[in-house]
Amino acid sequence: MKNFQIIKALSAKTAVTNLSKETDAKFIAGGTNLVDLMKKNITAPDKLVDINGLDLKKIEFLKGKTVIGALAKNSDVASDKTIKENFPLLSLALSAGASQQIRNMATVGGNMLQRTRCSYFYNTDMPCNKRVPKSGCGAIGGSNRMSAIFGASESCIAVHPSDMCVALAALDAVVTVEGPKGSRKIDFKDFHRLPGNTPEKDTTLENKELITSVEIPENHFAKNSHYLKIRDRTSYAFALVSVAAALDLNGKNIKEVRLAMGGVAHKPWRLTEAEKFLKGKEVSETVFTQAADLAMKEAKGYGDNNFKLTLGKNAIVEALTIAASK
Ligand SMILES: Cc1cc2nc3c(=O)[nH]c(=O)nc-3n(C[C@H](O)[C@H](O)[C@H](O)COP(=O)(O)OP(=O)(O)OC[C@H]3O[C@@H](n4cnc5c(N)ncnc54)[C@H](O)[C@@H]3O)c2cc1C
Ligand code: SF4
Repeated sequence: MKNFQIIKALSAKTAVTNLSKETDAKFIAGGTNLVDLMKKNITAPDKLVDINGLDLKKIEFLKGKTVIGALAKNSDVASDKTIKENFPLLSLALSAGASQQIRNMATVGGNMLQRTRCSYFYNTDMPCNKRVPKSGCGAIGGSNRMSAIFGASESCIAVHPSDMCVALAALDAVVTVEGPKGSRKIDFKDFHRLPGNTPEKDTTLENKELITSVEIPENHFAKNSHYLKIRDRTSYAFALVSVAAALDLNGKNIKEVRLAMGGVAHKPWRLTEAEKFLKGKEVSETVFTQAADLAMKEAKGYGDNNFKLTLGKNAIVEALTIAASK
C-alpha cells in the first residue's frame, strides 16, 4: 500500500474544502471497502479526509419524510425501531448485507459508493475498463456468473453490489450532497449510472462532493413489503439476484407498487413497466407471473450468468407473493 496522509474533517464544509485542495484525496467513512481497495492498489489516494467526526449520524423522522445521515451505521439503521415500523424493506435489505461486524462499521454514504465486486476489477493482472479505462473487459467472454443482465455495455457488464441501495431505489429516496458549488439533491434513481463507454464512473456524484443524507418520503408500503436476496450462502455473500417489493393494498387490489432488483445491473434496477402493469390489478400468482415476464423482457445473459434469467423471474414472483401475504 502507498503511504498516505489522513486528516480529520471538522464540518461538512471543511471536509469538502479539504478534499477540493487535493488532486488525489478521498473521504473515508467506515473504510470497509476503501481500505480493501487501497491494500490491493486499485485506488491509491495521497490523502484521506476522515469524515467520521461529522454530525451526520442521526435518523430524523420529520413530517412527510425520514432523513438518514450519511454516517449512520448500516446496523443502526437496520435495527432502528421506527425504521423497522415504517420502512421494513430498508431494514431487511440492510440486514441481508455483509456480516454484523461489517454492518457495524459500514455507513449509509459508503454503502452507496462501494465499488463493484467483479473479480476482474480486483485483479490488477487482468484487463478491466472500470479500473483502467480502455484496458478491456475480462468478464465479457470470461467468467461472468455474477454479471449484469440489464443495462450492460460493450465496455462493462458489472453489477452494483449493494442491498441497501435496492431498497432505497424502490422507496424513491433522494440523496443530499454538499460540494464546492453548494448543496444539491439527486433522485436515487439517477444517483447510480449505467456503464456506457465510461464504466469507471459509478455514479452521477461530482468530484469532491460529500453525501450528507438520504431522505425517504412517507409511504404506505410498511405492511406489505419484502426484500428477497438469493445468494450462494445465507450470510456474507453478495446477491446473485435480489428483489425489493413494496405493495400498498386495498384488500386484494394493488393501489400502488414499487419493485427494484439488485445483482442484475450497474445500478439498482427499477422495474417501472412491471409496476405500471400491476397498479390497479388484483393480487394473484398469474398477475405476478405476467409482471415478472414483463420485467425480464429486456434481460440478456452473457454465458455463465444465463441462470439469472430464470432466477430473476422466479425471484420477482416470490418477493411479490411474500409481500402480499404479510
Ligand atoms: C466481506 C464483505 C462482504 C460484504 N457483503 C455485502 C453485501 O452482501 N451487501 C452489501 O450491500 N454490501 C456488502 N459489503 C459492502 C459493505 O456494505 C460496504 O463495504 C460498506 O457499506 C461501505 O461503507 P463504508 O462506510 O465502510 O465505506 P468506505 O469504505 O469508508 O468508503 C467507500 C467509498 O465511499 C466514499 N465515501 C464514504 N462516505 C462518503 C460520503 N459521505 N460522501 C462521499 N463519499 C463517501 C469513500 O471515499 C469511498 O470511495 C460487503 C463488504 C465486505 C468487506
Ligand atoms: S465487467 Fe466491468 S468491472 Fe468487470 S472486468 Fe469488465 S469492465 Fe471491469
